[in-house]
Amino acid sequence: MGSTSTGATAIADDRRRRRVLFFPLPYQGHINPMFQLAGVLHSRGFAITVFHTHFNAPDASFHPDYHFVLVSGDVMSPTPADSPDTVQATVEHILAVNRSCEAPFRHLLAVLLARRLWLPVPEQEEEEEDDVACLVADAHLLTLLDVARELGVPTMALRTGSAACFRFFTAFPLLCDKGYLPAHESSSELDAAVVELPPYRVGDLPSARSAAAHVQMGEVISRAVTAVATSTGLILNTFDALEASELASLRRDRDLAGVQVFDVGPLHKLSPATSSSLLHPDRSCLDWLDAQPQRSVLYVSFGSLASMSSSDVEETAWGIAGSSVRFLWVLRPGIVSGAGAPPPLPDVLDAAVAGGRGVVVRWAPQEEVLAHAAVGAFWTHCGWNSTVEAVCAGVPMLCTPCFGDQMGNARYVVDVWRNGLMLAGGEVERGKVADAIAAVMGEGGEEVRRRAMELKSSAAESIGEAGSSSIMVDKLVSHIQSL
Ligand code: UDP
Repeated sequence: MGSTSTGATAIADDRRRRRVLFFPLPYQGHINPMFQLAGVLHSRGFAITVFHTHFNAPDASFHPDYHFVLVSGDVMSPTPADSPDTVQATVEHILAVNRSCEAPFRHLLAVLLARRLWLPVPEQEEEEEDDVACLVADAHLLTLLDVARELGVPTMALRTGSAACFRFFTAFPLLCDKGYLPAHESSSELDAAVVELPPYRVGDLPSARSAAAHVQMGEVISRAVTAVATSTGLILNTFDALEASELASLRRDRDLAGVQVFDVGPLHKLSPATSSSLLHPDRSCLDWLDAQPQRSVLYVSFGSLASMSSSDVEETAWGIAGSSVRFLWVLRPGIVSGAGAPPPLPDVLDAAVAGGRGVVVRWAPQEEVLAHAAVGAFWTHCGWNSTVEAVCAGVPMLCTPCFGDQMGNARYVVDVWRNGLMLAGGEVERGKVADAIAAVMGEGGEEVRRRAMELKSSAAESIGEAGSSSIMVDKLVSHIQSL
């Protein structure tokens, strides 16, 4: 790879435009931050190539300046959204994506490096254009990071979860040795503190349903740690004021010696607004929000992968209807595992919609929804992107984590940041739902609303001039330029 010695802001003056290659894991919650990162680097003058699978392929028409490369591996295993055991299906699918993309990615990258195929023909004749600086791949794509390094391309890993979650990844073998994992079913044990990893409790740790799935989950976690440890940098969509001690702990970790940690979040606030949505968002809900009073609407969405039983959907509907607040509910196709479409909603909810009290959509423009003045609370599964988006918007959260890192994210929301409440016992039952909505949106919810606004300010500070994340982006740009 060529090297340049330009400073962070001087790329435009440099004769060579450097190209950064990206390879997201093909899920919505991983694609969004990867495209946001690409947006940030593109706005700093880098050229962008995105490798992607056929499965969950991004829409290239939203990014006319980027160069897209289809890696046509055959990803045959069941996708998480199709499976009743989301953890097991996710780990199997991650391993399958790595396996199936290895050979085609190796071939495509070698050809691209040799022929610089991203350039339109006339530009190709110009000297010194577009040398490849590095590959930024999802930390779950170890095989592809290895391929890039073998072909001489430096690598960086993007982890799309929190710093705390990656700290859990690095501590996974210790937690197994100490007997925390695999977790046992007894509720008293699930409530026990993980002494080595506060504030987590045992029930917050991602766990698999079977011994075999636990082994596979350990493999995926250990591969992600290796992917980071063998890269030149770890990029995280978080910011210093949110996770200062977790970031400090990662920077002290001897297994990650030599890996620079770049906390450059909230990425969606730093990146120019473009869409990387796999589903078409229903923007009509924004018009409906325009007509609602300030902070009056409960926004309900459980992300792109979490599934519910039909009876949970029904209890959710009854609970929302019984709460008497205004609502915007995302009922995504596939929310009920094994069923293509959500079940019919109870009449009481249909009546609320018909009366104008609420709206149900298949997919929402979530960042805009959360930023809308009419939204007063967010009932969420606590995916990391949703959590960061809610923090930035100053919207208090009602948490029902489902799997993976979501329980840990909810722990931070409820116990550390205190900008949200847990749905009692995590149980979706109509009475508890209505009570929880009242608790977060009603008079008793002042404290979580106050904390939500404080966090919003610290997120804004982090991306302001001389804010921690703005400085980190400068450092990241310099780092890539030095590769
Ligand atoms: N999202 C969206 N519209 C919706 C629901 C979700 O645009 O109706 C976006 C949301 O803004 C977030 C991503 O999808 O960026 C979901 O990622 P997250 O990490 O919250 O959850 P996951 O889908 O990975 O479980």
